[in-house]
Amino acid sequence: MSDYIALERRYGATNYAPLPIVLTRGEGVWLWDDQDRRYLDMLSAYSAVSFGYGHPKLVQVFTEQAKRLAVTSRAFHSNTLPPFLARLCEITGMDRALPMTTGAEGVETAIKCARKWAYIVKKVPRDKAEIIVCEANFHGRTSTIVGFSSEAQYRDDFGPYAKGAFPAVPFGDAKALAAAITPNTAAFLVEPVQGEAGIIVPPEGYLTECARICRENNVLLIVDEVQTGLGRTGKVLAIQHEGVKPDGLILGKALGGGLMPVSAFLAREDVMGVFKPGDHGSTFGGNALGAAIGLASLNVLMEEKLADRAAAMGDYLLARLKTIASPVVTDVRGKGLLVGIELDPAKVSARAFVETLLKHGVLSKDTHGTVARFAPALIIERQEIDWALERIRAALREYGP
Ligand code: PMP
Repeated sequence: MSDYIALERRYGATNYAPLPIVLTRGEGVWLWDDQDRRYLDMLSAYSAVSFGYGHPKLVQVFTEQAKRLAVTSRAFHSNTLPPFLARLCEITGMDRALPMTTGAEGVETAIKCARKWAYIVKKVPRDKAEIIVCEANFHGRTSTIVGFSSEAQYRDDFGPYAKGAFPAVPFGDAKALAAAITPNTAAFLVEPVQGEAGIIVPPEGYLTECARICRENNVLLIVDEVQTGLGRTGKVLAIQHEGVKPDGLILGKALGGGLMPVSAFLAREDVMGVFKPGDHGSTFGGNALGAAIGLASLNVLMEEKLADRAAAMGDYLLARLKTIASPVVTDVRGKGLLVGIELDPAKVSARAFVETLLKHGVLSKDTHGTVARFAPALIIERQEIDWALERIRAALREYGP
């Protein structure tokens, strides 16, 4: 065993079980380990490295800004945050943006904002606001968020949780949403494609219908695009596939350009307007370096037309994966470059399969026990996808013709 792995196992907390490789360097869609073996990264840190490792423009902005000014706090203005906020609003069509660091913090911000909006604007009795969520959701790991996870391992040992605060409805079922709304409902929080649940794409028209139901009931539609946003599914935002305009939107992961954590909660004017000075914040949210990287990431996304690339490359990857005949594959699905292979758990676990893929030089992630997830950087080239497909085919052949 590598000394690094032994050291981590000796001193690290036991909340992760990483695959047994030690990464030391990355370039584009490729990663190298401490033995100088090369891997094609088909995960890109769950979409956080959507523009690839070492993107020259991002690295340049990062190093120049790090030398000039990095962290100052929001006690003062900076010259990098305002242009970042303006570009975020321009690209997403939202009115105002509140910068945070991690995805979970962005979601927490949305929850706090929706609740205050419900008390101030909708006149819901204090402490009674409900936020409807979806079954099999994933929105992060804070104690509030895991309280409404359907995943027992994420939730059960970390309570107590407030009963009734986050009623859950089946994902993809707009009628169930309509039935769950009460006079105390502040918001409906939803992922456009459920990533952590195993790449679950809802029926077409679902989000349009949810938006209509929310509008008719004066309920905020808050879309968590931490994983799906910024080109991943073939549009800048996944909700744009249906032309939906939400009342609140959460971005994260790719917003930090693969260099640092940057997230944001964006909202309609009157919704964000409920936050007053002192209501909410974070030491690192909106720091000068993060804002510069956030802006540079948005510029790379738009200038390189990476959403269109993700659509084309994603269609290609999905179509080719579907042609692979394997006795262990039960489904192949996805949108853009967010793709999953569902495996027959009686024949192979997703974890065993990603370990086999690793042997063949492809990095991916087992998700929800039965799905191998692929979310490569959006800059991936066709021949790199072909390279991955050849290895995926070889890995599957290990389980039968
Ligand atoms: N929302 C969604 C949809 C996510 O996929 C994730 C991370 N997988 C999060 C929120 C949480 O983001 P973070 O890990 O940066 O807190």
